Amino acid sequence: MIGKRSEEKQIVTLMIELYCRKNHRREIICSDCEELIDYAATRLDKCMFGDEKPACKHCLVHCYKPVMREKIREIMRWAGPRMIFYRPGAAVRHMLSKPLRKRMRT
Ligand SMILES: [Zn+2]
Repeated sequence: MIGKRSEEKQIVTLMIELYCRKNHRREIICSDCEELIDYAATRLDKCMFGDEKPACKHCLVHCYKPVMREKIREIMRWAGPRMIFYRPGAAVRHMLSKPLRKRMRT
């Protein structure tokens, strides 16, 4: 069983790679997108919720700095629906993970 964070890291990486390939039209990932992958991975490593973390969009702590948050949001908006075709299991699990607040009450 792999940790939630390593799975999330994989998903984020896949989404950014996919976005870059289709939108920036590069053979290999561009430096901007690579930086974003690194940044997202670091945020996940430092996440205060550890492997108990909710999906980032439900997270109460917005730990991304604004410019990175804008970028990642755009990528998620674009890549989110497409992930169903590329990685159905991971994408569905990701979308089904409950918001933190709800989970704490139960
Ligand atoms: Zn790119």
